[in-house]
Amino acid sequence: MRLTTIGTGTVAPHPTRVCAGHLIEARDVVLLLDCGSGVVHRMAALALPWSRISHVAITHFHGDHIADLAMLCYAFKYGQLPPRSEPLQVIGPPGIRDLMDRLALVFGTWLHAPGYLLEVVELEAGIELQLGSALRLSSRKVPHTPESVAYSVTEGAGRIVYTGDTGFDASLGEWAAGCDVLLTECSLPDAMAIPSHLTPTQAGALAAVANPGTLVLSHFYLPVEAVDITALVAAQFHGSVVLATDGWSIDL
Ligand SMILES: [Zn+2]
Ligand SMILES: [Zn+2]
Repeated sequence: MRLTTIGTGTVAPHPTRVCAGHLIEARDVVLLLDCGSGVVHRMAALALPWSRISHVAITHFHGDHIADLAMLCYAFKYGQLPPRSEPLQVIGPPGIRDLMDRLALVFGTWLHAPGYLLEVVELEAGIELQLGSALRLSSRKVPHTPESVAYSVTEGAGRIVYTGDTGFDASLGEWAAGCDVLLTECSLPDAMAIPSHLTPTQAGALAAVANPGTLVLSHFYLPVEAVDITALVAAQFHGSVVLATDGWSIDL
């Protein structure tokens, strides 16, 4: 499978980083993890197969992770010829169905029947979901907002863990133990640490527990880019570390 980081920024306007969104391609499955503002057009800029997205999995309901979700559904309907006919699954923690209903109140009832089958799946933590023939998806709660989850995506022996937004939680590192790629947030410098996001030192400490093949950092607010992220992480975790950019990718 291939992971591409589409959006490595936050709500803070940034010249080269749009809001959160990451793509996993594996055989018949194209899975979009989060769909923040800017992600849909960024996929076109990166020549990613946005029209073949089969599943969207949302970690939590902050705008920098969902703001392009209705626009993606709209793009499938009006942004290509012929319009989409294949089914789409939108997956999220409990509450995702209510979120889609509220988006339909804002953007129009077409969102319930966009011309293709749009299935909303509320995934309970700990339940494993089969995606197409290629992938298995499961989630666990993380300390960010009440609904927030991290996702584990596996294909055969290959495993990617995406934290979404999270505070530090050693048990999250244990859950991710031995994964090939740990894609985690790295929002704020240590001097601005808060319980609901990670600093470079905390991201490194999380990786020290998980011991991934590669640690991939994302979700950078502007102040964290002013510190030496690589050195701070390396003081905690001695493995491979990547500071992701919009368009970075890795093949497993
Ligand atoms: Zn958030
Ligand atoms: Zn965020």
